[in-house]
Amino acid sequence: MKGQIVKILSNLYFVNCDGEVYECHSRGIFRNKKITPVVGDYCIINKEDKYILDILPRKNFLIRPLVANVDQGLIVTSLKTPDFSTNLLDKLIAIMEINKITPVICITKEDIVTDEIKKEIKSIIEYYKEIGYSVFYNYEIEKIKSIFKDKTTVFTGQTGAGKSSLFNKLDPSLNFTVGEVSNALGRGKHTTRYVELISLFGGKLVDTPGFSSIDLSIYSEEDIKNSFIEFLKYKCKYSDCMHTNEDISCCEVKKAVSNNEIIKSRYDDYIKFLESIHHK
Ligand code: ZN
Repeated sequence: MKGQIVKILSNLYFVNCDGEVYECHSRGIFRNKKITPVVGDYCIINKEDKYILDILPRKNFLIRPLVANVDQGLIVTSLKTPDFSTNLLDKLIAIMEINKITPVICITKEDIVTDEIKKEIKSIIEYYKEIGYSVFYNYEIEKIKSIFKDKTTVFTGQTGAGKSSLFNKLDPSLNFTVGEVSNALGRGKHTTRYVELISLFGGKLVDTPGFSSIDLSIYSEEDIKNSFIEFLKYKCKYSDCMHTNEDISCCEVKKAVSNNEIIKSRYDDYIKFLESIHHK
């Protein structure tokens, strides 16, 4: 029987099979294969003796949070306090693209910015939509609810962007206290929070504000180049063109930046990311 590991407590694996959760044990065979089952893993279990028989191939695997098979990432992005940051947004999108996670952008705090700023940011947001990303505003509750179905979703965003209030608005019973957990559990004490998948609107939510490994240095130049999805449609003179020091006459991406087909902030972030991995 096929299921998904939704929680692990020491040696006990909680496997959700068609809505029913089985508390299973794992066999030593995974140790021989050097596989450690993690939350998010799809597996085959024997429901009679409650053993995990096999772990199915992973679509992706994240270290922080430790979870496998994430389909999409909800990026909660505020327009003010903290200020809108294309740099952070592009970094999160890049990491998600590299890990085959579909980014979904959720804008918060639109109500507290001036019309002038709203207009300025709006054109940037429109650009993300044009290149194929879904963008929602935090008041579009029903639309946001619909994205979870049949998917495993992780969420992230700046501190103070309004992650907890968004989830509490989506489902008040969640009683989310993102970022407040460690405070609530005791000051200064070492608090270990395990990752858990919770059922939400027909899908699964990774119950941790993790996705904190926003360090690009573990990735290659090629990874970063390919994570800027709108660059891919441009065919430069040389297929290994990095769109950096090449002459503009040979680089379709640079041409597209110069005629505003690609917004400058995206290209600038691309260059910054490449530089940041060189410095490593
Ligand atoms: Zn190029």
